[in-house]
Amino acid sequence: MSSDCNGPVAQAAQVAAPQLATATAGDHNKAGSGLFSQLTDNPFFTAGFGLAGLAAALRAGQQGLRRSTDLLRRRLLVDVEITRNDESYQWLLHWITAYQRAQAMGQHAIPGMPRQPAPSGTLSSLINKITPRMHHLQIQTARAKRPDGADETRLSLVPGQGRHILRYGNAFIALNRQRDKAFDMSTGTPFETITMTTLYAHRNVFEELFSDAHRLAQEMHEGKTIIYNSWGPDWKPFGQPKRKRPIDSVILERGVKERILEDIRAFLEARAWYLDRGIPYRRGYLLYGSPGTGKSSFILALAGELDFNIAILNLSEPGLTDDRLNVLLTKVPPRTIVLLEDADAAFNNRTQADEHGYRGATVTFSGLLNALDGVASVDERIIFLTTNHVQSLDPALVRPGRVDMTVHLGEATEWQIEQMWDRFYVDVDTDGLGKQRFMTRIKELGLANSISTASLQGLFLYNKDDMDGAVGMLGDLAKSHGQV
Ligand code: ADP
Repeated sequence: MSSDCNGPVAQAAQVAAPQLATATAGDHNKAGSGLFSQLTDNPFFTAGFGLAGLAAALRAGQQGLRRSTDLLRRRLLVDVEITRNDESYQWLLHWITAYQRAQAMGQHAIPGMPRQPAPSGTLSSLINKITPRMHHLQIQTARAKRPDGADETRLSLVPGQGRHILRYGNAFIALNRQRDKAFDMSTGTPFETITMTTLYAHRNVFEELFSDAHRLAQEMHEGKTIIYNSWGPDWKPFGQPKRKRPIDSVILERGVKERILEDIRAFLEARAWYLDRGIPYRRGYLLYGSPGTGKSSFILALAGELDFNIAILNLSEPGLTDDRLNVLLTKVPPRTIVLLEDADAAFNNRTQADEHGYRGATVTFSGLLNALDGVASVDERIIFLTTNHVQSLDPALVRPGRVDMTVHLGEATEWQIEQMWDRFYVDVDTDGLGKQRFMTRIKELGLANSISTASLQGLFLYNKDDMDGAVGMLGDLAKSHGQV
């Protein structure tokens, strides 16, 4: 059997087996190479494969490029970001426009310090005046009262949303003004940021640029008083800064203005004294008197005289809560006098509903005291309270740091009446006889100390340049005041 096994058939089988095996492998190989070649020969497959490969390579390339750009960016560029809430935001916008305009007019030597007034007029004339380099601008409209009382609308153009390029000295600065989707709930305005990017080597230009912008903002406000009103828990400028009211234009009883001014000046010079002793650096004044005796006008003029701005809040304003008052007093802008009008709203502590079911002012007397005693800052805090009803004044208010000085502004005294006369008729009453006639009539009618300075102003305005008219109308004024 073994020989059979080694017989020709078996040998043939043994020989055939590898052949078979070879044949099988060969067939597989053939089939495999056939499939491969079929695939590789298939133009769709190769194109797809090629594209996938290309996409992967591109992706890798892109990532690499992004990484190296990021790295380069980090190494070579420097950013500065300013958010809308920052005080410098508005300065910067205005400075950029002013700067670009100066550049466009060829005034290269005045970066940040344009001497010409801000463009005003029609929109098309504005756009023509503005730099050719900025292609996306935004209009800002501000309404203000002119000194003669007329309304004035001022238009100014500022860089709009998007990217801008700015050349400052040797540096190119990419500026990106972006608006967020989120809103500031208290003001209803969207959050915004400006990002400025320049070469790392030019990083120092930012410091220079911001001080130019600050200087320009100061120049724009020079001789002006910014009036802030409350807006939710914040203070917002009300319209454009107003021309300072000269302190001489407010006529108080002899020596009263000087006494208050002297006190405030002494307080402003005593910062170190207060801080060294750990005493809150604040001073409070209460002005009381009938309406039209010049309380608000005096405080506004005083702010101008001291180069302060003014933040005005009416304590009888609906919706003003103790908390809001407290927050507002902790956020007073620098160099700003706070004027709390109608302080009796808090003295009376009106928390009961009136006949219409309205709860009235919600600031309570204790809320006012808390706010006045609130967190002290290193900055000075000067608060003026005004009231027409001093009879409801609580003695708890008159304490150092709350109310340090109480001043009564009364009806016009003889001295005030003469001063007011001079202010209005100085050009026409050259020999002073007009004033004599006027004062004689005032005494006859017993009007001294019984008419307000506001009524006198009304009389003089009505009889502008007409002294006899003013004398003649005194009788009517006396009647309206129940003097005759
Ligand atoms: P008050 O705050 O006491 O009610 P205002 O300051 O609002 O009075 O004055 C009302 C108007 O009368 C203003 O136009 C102001 O110019 C004028 N006026 C009132 N008092 C004086 C004053 N003492 N000197 C100059 N103007 C005055």
